Amino acid sequence: MARDPKYDILFEPIEIGPKTLRNRFYQVPHCIGAGTDRPGFQAAHRSLKCEGGWGAVNTEYISIHPESDDCHRVSARIWDEGDVRNLRAMTEAVHKHGSLCGVELWYGGAHAPGMETRQTARGPSQLASEFETMTYCKEMDLDDIQMVQQFYVDAAKRSRDAGFDIIYVYGSHSYLPLQFLSPYYNKRTDAYGGSFENRARFWIETLDKVKAAVGDECAIATRFAVDTLYGDAGVEVEREGLKFVELADPYLDLWDVNVGDIAEWGEDAGPSRFYKTGHQLDWQKYVTQTSTKPVLGVGRFTDPEVMAGVIRSGQLDIIGAARPSIADPYLPNKIDEGRPEDIRTCIGCNVCISRWEIGGPPMICTQNATAGEEYRRGWHPEKFQKAGSDDSFLVVGAGPAGAEASRVLLERGYTVHLVDKAEKVGGYVNDVATLPGLAEWSYHRDYREFQLEKLMKKSKQSQLALGAKPLTADDILEYGADKVIIATGAHWNTNGLNALTKEPVVGIDADLPYILTPEQVFEGKKEIGKRVMILNADPYYMAPSLAEKMAKAGHEVTIASGVSVGGYMEFTLEHPNLHRMMHEQKIEIIGDVWASEVQEGRIELYSLYGEGSVREYRGPGNLPRNENTTHKWHEFDTLIVVTGRTSNVGLYNELKARKDEWAANDIKGVYVIGDAWAPKLIADATFDGHRIAREIEEENPQYPLPYKREVHVWGQAYIPGSNHEIEYKV
Ligand code: ADP
Ligand code: SF4
Repeated sequence: MARDPKYDILFEPIEIGPKTLRNRFYQVPHCIGAGTDRPGFQAAHRSLKCEGGWGAVNTEYISIHPESDDCHRVSARIWDEGDVRNLRAMTEAVHKHGSLCGVELWYGGAHAPGMETRQTARGPSQLASEFETMTYCKEMDLDDIQMVQQFYVDAAKRSRDAGFDIIYVYGSHSYLPLQFLSPYYNKRTDAYGGSFENRARFWIETLDKVKAAVGDECAIATRFAVDTLYGDAGVEVEREGLKFVELADPYLDLWDVNVGDIAEWGEDAGPSRFYKTGHQLDWQKYVTQTSTKPVLGVGRFTDPEVMAGVIRSGQLDIIGAARPSIADPYLPNKIDEGRPEDIRTCIGCNVCISRWEIGGPPMICTQNATAGEEYRRGWHPEKFQKAGSDDSFLVVGAGPAGAEASRVLLERGYTVHLVDKAEKVGGYVNDVATLPGLAEWSYHRDYREFQLEKLMKKSKQSQLALGAKPLTADDILEYGADKVIIATGAHWNTNGLNALTKEPVVGIDADLPYILTPEQVFEGKKEIGKRVMILNADPYYMAPSLAEKMAKAGHEVTIASGVSVGGYMEFTLEHPNLHRMMHEQKIEIIGDVWASEVQEGRIELYSLYGEGSVREYRGPGNLPRNENTTHKWHEFDTLIVVTGRTSNVGLYNELKARKDEWAANDIKGVYVIGDAWAPKLIADATFDGHRIAREIEEENPQYPLPYKREVHVWGQAYIPGSNHEIEYKV
């Protein structure tokens, strides 16, 4: 189908300095865990987006010198010729698609911990980082300023040699240029501190030097936090923000504008729990009005209607995107081909960021199971190898794992019967998306529901059976499918079984009227009293989300927790606003406790550290520490138990136990995926489904094939198993 003309504006080329951007789709710098040490991953992930229509893609932040080392996080690096060579794999792959390739030069200053290189970063003033643990920089003297500016120039020249078209001087997220500009970091009294002009001097001089060195061949960009969101203690848009835009405008070709700082960078990469699409426009639009150069910005733009509106109204010139491009590398092409309904919409969960923040490559995506797998597994998000046999499939469970397995099997041309006792595709996601702020997570279900409907129509023999009676092992053995995939999910423990004691809690039984599991809260069948206690041993969103739901419904809520409440949400950048919300909702937290017993209306809690710090050998049968004497009863009307999850694996285990009946029933294999295999993130359950569907012809598809590892091998100049080409298994 042809593209809807109302989206034509998104496909108009635009000049940025000496370069032309072929359309308005621009993948801003974002981390994936590839850096320079995984050139295959870097090249495949970025260039695939160009194949999918993105006019420009960038590296993640790229360190310009060993002094600026962000280990344990994986940044790219452009320190030497080896880095240039590795990055050339990316620029060459990108240029094959006619897109531009950008690089984001990064010097961390106050926020560079230097854990690998053990070098000391330099900054405007010696103040401890509010973001990194125990990290101080050396206060720069005038020689230091010259030296570090030369690092930028040298890195810019290496970037040009590597084939980059756009070279950033990265200033937002509180990195070095912004540290000079912001009075929050800059306490100097010389020509680089004090007045606005003095504080802007470092950034302007650096831009000037970089432009003089490479500006004829490359476009010069800067990423600028036009408002650091702490009033005049930092940078405010209508005060020094726009003054800086006016001052720097002649020195660059492109503005990439956002808000916030590094300690709370979820204000930029806003999770959908707190921020909707275009949440930074109220700041970004001022820059477009002030600058004479093209301006781009992010805001989880996934809807072509919104994107076209943003450009038409002059709020931005170019649509910047990180997460929307991860969730759907083919987003621009789908708009261009007149099928925007096929876009795999980013749900704003920030799981992509979480995996990188933890320090573990690759980045993963809840919506797009192929993200991070382009090179090492050769997975293409839109192309699939044709079915390798005429086997038929029964998939039990239409949650993330079962729905994704079915979708990919259908894409491959297999016959699939997807059966679920629930009335709707989506499994666990249907409940989760009803939690406060998580409505957009339902896009995960919507994408699969829509694709399944389309694919089922094409595949005459396939069918989707919802609202079915729960399948038993007998039903499955007699079903007539060649292969069976069990994706029956998991449930929250009903007896208090938990990670801390690895035991149930005395008195917890979800059959009792005053005790509820999260599923029972969603079902809404049990009455919930005024005082709600949540016993929590889960580090992600369930306990704080239920607390919010309860508090907003008028209950008095206390969370008794054995783990950090929402601890994992530090990695998804939801943590600061989550805690602000809990403060607003007067949700009380009793931390570092666990429960010894529950009775009707009361729970006995004890401090996890109540047994004394002295540890000594006291003979067999005696604990090495004193008895914990901190036990105390607390009252509640209703107890919600978020203590852990267990797989619904009974069906799979029974089928496995009856393996000798498979042949007589013409069953070639039975496999288990997703939460039924082990409880996990929605992203990982989706991955399981995708993976088994791609590898179903293997001898034992239950277990994944090895992937290409980008590792240094002693004495070898190449990566074994790699021919240095990007190959998709289609
Ligand atoms: P995952 O995240 O692994 O996909 P979910 O818990 O989200 O798991 O989804 C599991 C789905 O399996 C649910 O929709 C549930 O209704 C369905 N299901 C579980 N047991 C059966 C069964 N015996 N027969 C049919 N459907 C089942
Ligand atoms: Fe979007 Fe979540 Fe995927 Fe990140 S992991 S791109 S936030 S869907």
